[in-house]
Amino acid sequence: MDDLHPLDLLEIDTDLPAVTQDARDRTRSWVDEEFLPRAADLWRSGTFPQEFFEALGKLGAFGTSISGWGCPGHDALTYGVLMRELERGDSGLRTSASVQGALVMTAIERFGTDAQRDQFLPVMAAGKHLGCFALSEPLHGSDPGGLTTTARKQGNHYLLAGEKMWIGNATIANTAVVWAKADDVPDAEPQSSQAIRGFLVDTALPGYQAELIEGRMSLRIGLTARIHLDNVRVPESAVLPQAVGLKTALACLDQARYGIAWGSIGAAMACLDEVRQYTLQRKVFGRPLASFQLTQDKLVEMASELSSAQLLARRIAELKLAGTLRTDQISMAKYRNVEAASRIARLGRELLGAAGILDEHVCFRHLCNLESVATYEGTRDIHRLVLGRALTGLSAFR
Ligand code: FAD
Repeated sequence: MDDLHPLDLLEIDTDLPAVTQDARDRTRSWVDEEFLPRAADLWRSGTFPQEFFEALGKLGAFGTSISGWGCPGHDALTYGVLMRELERGDSGLRTSASVQGALVMTAIERFGTDAQRDQFLPVMAAGKHLGCFALSEPLHGSDPGGLTTTARKQGNHYLLAGEKMWIGNATIANTAVVWAKADDVPDAEPQSSQAIRGFLVDTALPGYQAELIEGRMSLRIGLTARIHLDNVRVPESAVLPQAVGLKTALACLDQARYGIAWGSIGAAMACLDEVRQYTLQRKVFGRPLASFQLTQDKLVEMASELSSAQLLARRIAELKLAGTLRTDQISMAKYRNVEAASRIARLGRELLGAAGILDEHVCFRHLCNLESVATYEGTRDIHRLVLGRALTGLSAFR
């Protein structure tokens, strides 16, 4: 029994390389000491403190896998473990890291110019310059290829016009990566997904306006916003030259979804940790709640689900390290691990009884957050369609 790790039954963490353990321990300490004592208040106020960005930068949470430009250059395993430890605190923490690092910085690193990389990556890695990734629109979430935001070329400028919806960090971002259909992509119909280009939009420009979406019951420790683009005039130098066609936007999503497959495990670990201790202390019918068979059944279910999710994450890390990880494999890991984490959070909330609805306990907060995590970066349906296509060679999207 001494050797048993309740949150890691298969001892997935015991042979982590030293560099990964170091990133894990530093992130875990920050989450425990700086974040968790404030989590309930932040949830109530529905905000994300700006000072967290510099702290996350110091932890190496932004551009974790990028080498150079002051980025950590960690391997895939360390990146995953870091995302897991952030989401053990709250999905909002990991989401901010995913938006800034996996989406915005990946777009700049892969599709930008040297000048853009030099300008943005070092300050973004440090959390001193913030980005958002504006792909979704009010009428186009699951089918981003249908987006209607336009970029009209005028001399050496573009005019961007349209609406973006559900955009993380958009109210505090200095630079927005905006995906729009441009009228100057050679050989592409202006309304087709081949006409999509990525732009680095300075959010201080006239015509850019972001407003926080109110009434969110999920990811409250976060800033999800709507963006209005009213003929924002951006220079040619704002174009990410290699970001042409929907597939380039989707390539950034792969990096973020890999982080979600790992991050959701952190939320699950927090729930099992809380509820195991709670059921050992809470007495019902004169004895510990944990001593009842039905309770143990639920705890075993949670630990088993968690172990399967950890194995899946570790395997995709191996494939990513080997450079062979495919999109359909990421799809499976994203939707399966978020589902597993949701089931664990749901069972945890149930075991807490009435106390489980209070924000002094973590399960319900994680459960609410996981509803967003299950929705963004492709819903369960979309990932099953991706997998269905991979299995059959037939697309069932439309
Ligand atoms: P819809 O596309 O309208 O889907 C509605 C339902 O229909 C879903 O259940 C879906 O699975 C189902 N469905 C869709 N297509 C099919 C089909 N072919 N067959 C069967 N069922 C289908 N976007 C960004 O660009 N940047 C961000 O930073 C960002 N952050 C977000 C943060 C939060 C908190 C949330 C909730 C969303 C965020 N999003 C962001 C948007 C997110 O990616 C979209 O919400 C998501 O892709 C789903 O799109 P939708 O909401 O328009 O739902």
